[in-house]
Amino acid sequence: MDTRIQSIVIVGGGTAGWMTAAALAKRFANNPISITLIESADIGTIGVGEATVPFIKEFLKQLKIDEVEFIQATNATYKLAISFDGWKHEGHSFLHPFAGYGARVDNIPFYHFWIKMMQLNKAQELDAYCLSSQIARANKFALPKPNQDVEISSFNYAFHFDATLFAKFLSNYAQKLGVKRIEATVQNVMQHETTGFVKSLGLSNDQIIEGELFIDCSGFKGLLIEETLNTGYESWNQWLPCDRAVAIPCESNGEPAPYTRSLACEAGWQWRIQLQHRTGNGYVYSSNHISDEQAVESLTKNLEGKPLAPPKLMRFVTGMRKQSWNKNVFSIGLSSGFLEPLESTSIYIIQESINLLIDNFPNSNWPPQLITETNKILRIRQEKLRDFIILHYHLNERHGENFWDACRSMSIPDTLATQIELFKNTAQVAVTHLDFFRTNSWLAMFAGFNRIPDYYHPLVDNFDEALLEKEFSTISTGIISAVNGLPSHQEFIQKNCL
Ligand SMILES: Cc1cc2nc3c(=O)[nH]c(=O)nc-3n(C[C@H](O)[C@H](O)[C@H](O)COP(=O)(O)OP(=O)(O)OC[C@H]3O[C@@H](n4cnc5c(N)ncnc54)[C@H](O)[C@@H]3O)c2cc1C
Repeated sequence: MDTRIQSIVIVGGGTAGWMTAAALAKRFANNPISITLIESADIGTIGVGEATVPFIKEFLKQLKIDEVEFIQATNATYKLAISFDGWKHEGHSFLHPFAGYGARVDNIPFYHFWIKMMQLNKAQELDAYCLSSQIARANKFALPKPNQDVEISSFNYAFHFDATLFAKFLSNYAQKLGVKRIEATVQNVMQHETTGFVKSLGLSNDQIIEGELFIDCSGFKGLLIEETLNTGYESWNQWLPCDRAVAIPCESNGEPAPYTRSLACEAGWQWRIQLQHRTGNGYVYSSNHISDEQAVESLTKNLEGKPLAPPKLMRFVTGMRKQSWNKNVFSIGLSSGFLEPLESTSIYIIQESINLLIDNFPNSNWPPQLITETNKILRIRQEKLRDFIILHYHLNERHGENFWDACRSMSIPDTLATQIELFKNTAQVAVTHLDFFRTNSWLAMFAGFNRIPDYYHPLVDNFDEALLEKEFSTISTGIISAVNGLPSHQEFIQKNCL
């Protein structure tokens, strides 16, 4: 008997649905699998999700989408970093760049030398030794040189883009590759009597759509994974207390910054994402600390240009589905879980989910080991992101503000407590291949919050201090002169992308 899956049905046409449809259509282009996507004009998409991490470039590469074509289609800008303003305390700011710092000496990471030089008062802030941070702060941009193996000049980048235009772009792409799009609302879900597997969907236009593999991209409610299969949801609200957001796009005011801004506020934080044609703004907040009206008022006051739409309110519970893959339903996007957008990781998780589905593609025997293993990897990846995001809140020094005091004193997951202790005592960070955020990212956070350990690698003491001081100065001045010669971010886009 042929056990190959012949038909895939995707419910949902937001970012998750169309990314999944496009990726599957590309990978299965010469395969007789049929792919159908159902999206409802009545329900609509969440319409936010405009900042990414560099992994998005892998998606474009896999789909053979030219970056410039993508930038034009989505009014995108480049992103080198996130700027955390006021997170340590009011008036303080630091960057989390997609890049490393300084250069290794004798195979010892630069930051061990930096710790010692900071103790001696002979070093500047860590960002002074990061080319990407300095490019970002100067509002400039350049593409990293290919095959750059000199640590100091290597960096990575991502994009800010218009989420609605992105879904439209991918919808055209996927339909050209044969994905069948149906505009209708799923009204009934029929299940197999004994196994509970999803058999078919009843639509508002009276069609019945049968399938073998169902991909739930229906957003927060999880039409198939939760409302049908009752898979269960694990809340992380005890560690990540923000549970609402309000978004208001506004007119641009000046040239776009090549970084996302995250501004700490009374009961959460505000994002500011500058695209080519407008600025995206949102306030992510804890409903235990301020009301929706206060959040709207605070965000409105903080806009840099004229609002382009009324405030859009969103409620969410940070956490993840107990199983992303249950029976013949694989959930991707908001239906499988949500980590607040502080580090722009949702689209990254969508990509990882798509990759895992393709790598562990099932047959009609639905091997349980495959499902268990896939769920396990997705869980580990998300827990690691979760810990990194909790760290931002936990290290704050905004004393005397209810929300921030609570974040500082809350209990944290053991895995995160261990990581903090490890860095404090050894200046090391424990990361594995399942971590998206590696040592440099943790370092950016610890240094940004001034949690610099007393300890550094003992081999650092083999080096002459005066020579190190000279080397530090050469690095920071070399970076400044490299940045001086670059075009502004806006000029770069105009010359190369329009
Ligand atoms: C406040 C906020 C800020 C965010 N910022 C970022 C960010 O900066 N970076 C990032 O990576 N991510 C971000 N995200 C996450 C990102 O928005 C989502 O991961 C992404 O948009 C995917 O959403 P989705 O496609 O899963 O769901 P949705 O966009 O909600 O799409 C759901 C789809 O399902 C369809 N649907 C639902 N029910 C039915 C039905 N019965 N019948 C037919 N169709 C149905 C709808 O029509 C729609 O097409 C943010 C999220 C929030 C809430």
